[in-house]
Amino acid sequence: MTTFVNIWSRYPLWLRIIAALILGIVAGIVIPSIAIHFKILGDLFIRLIRMLILPLIFITIISGIVSIKSDGGVLGKILGGSVALYLTTSFFAISVGLLVATIVPMPNSLSIPSNMDSEALRVPPSPSEVFLNLFPSNIAESMSSGNIIQVIVFAIFLGMAIKLSGSHGTRISKLFTDGNVIIMRLTGWIIELAPFGVFGLISYTVATQGAAELLGLAGLIGVAFLAYAVHTLVVIGLLVHFAGGVPVYNFFAGIREAIVVSFSTASSSGTIPVSMRNVRDNLNVPNHVSGIVMPLGATVNMDGTSVFMGVCTVFLAGVYGVDLSMSDYVLIVVTGVLASIGTAGVPGAGVIMLGTVLTAVGLPVEGVLLIIGVERILDMGRTSVNVIGDCAVSRIISYKFRTFASEVDIDAADGSEDMPVNPVQVERDRRALQRGNA
Ligand code: ASP
Repeated sequence: MTTFVNIWSRYPLWLRIIAALILGIVAGIVIPSIAIHFKILGDLFIRLIRMLILPLIFITIISGIVSIKSDGGVLGKILGGSVALYLTTSFFAISVGLLVATIVPMPNSLSIPSNMDSEALRVPPSPSEVFLNLFPSNIAESMSSGNIIQVIVFAIFLGMAIKLSGSHGTRISKLFTDGNVIIMRLTGWIIELAPFGVFGLISYTVATQGAAELLGLAGLIGVAFLAYAVHTLVVIGLLVHFAGGVPVYNFFAGIREAIVVSFSTASSSGTIPVSMRNVRDNLNVPNHVSGIVMPLGATVNMDGTSVFMGVCTVFLAGVYGVDLSMSDYVLIVVTGVLASIGTAGVPGAGVIMLGTVLTAVGLPVEGVLLIIGVERILDMGRTSVNVIGDCAVSRIISYKFRTFASEVDIDAADGSEDMPVNPVQVERDRRALQRGNA
């Protein structure tokens, strides 16, 4: 046992997670009847992550806000900048999805059943409902039901109130900045279990995924993953290079754990602890930025889901023999961006919101049922793209934001001396900022 622990801990976490992913795929193919029982490992990991998410978000957002030295302005810049970037990347994402799906042919072996059970579909919420649902009416209920966006909104309000309360807020500010160090330690312990969770989730998914459905919709899967790749490498790649001040390779290498965990869990909310830690340790994003930008991004910034909506709408229009006009494309972009904002960062949420886009262009909502068989694999890919987008925005905001570093109490925000950041990246940032400030 000790030997195993010694060998195990000799390898970096990202390598262990990727090894677990590969082993999980092999187990799912070779021993499917046994692999389905490994699901318990994945379920346990997800439970522990869920246990962590709300306190983590609550504490990091408040400790982030109270650590900002100036009043309001810096928080406004972080929030405003993030939302502008979320909207921009989502716009590009759905456009990429539409473009790739229109250019690349998607053969399919689908026949449209006449008696599809549309009862199985939930009605997607209206835009006004989405807006109202941002605000909690009962914070205890929001917390117990795991409504992340409402907890974020409450934490921002409370953090601002503490910040603006002068000396009355001092002790509670300290409580939250200390709490931040403690919750980060707990996060570190749970993330160590990621390889086991990834192994369990992947082996189960591979063992239970129907090969016939995968083959029948191979065209759709191929085009969706091609569009995910184009958005990730071109749009996100260019953004992080030019606006984030980080070489593209370093960016992706820095968040590889988050990419694999999001792929296996199909949940961007469930990946928050890992992605927050990755951007902090490897991309030099301080906690006071990642604490706000990452949870917000995991609930409203869905680049992968936008790509998915673009691809699936074109695909289903083809299946139903509907020709999309230029105004349909504009409608798809607008509704797709709004629908992606309303998509929760949990498995399967995007496929329900796809119904909104289909309705907007007059396609049958039941079309969703045609792709449901391959939904999980599409979801895994799009969730990784969602998380990559969140990490990119947090890096960009942090890079721009650090030009205003005098306004931020970095020590209080980062909370502890035992939180390493990548020294090479720090040095690169320092030089870039010196050049920028010169
Ligand atoms: N599973 C995605 C996520 O967690 C949301 C979606 O279904 O599109 O980011």
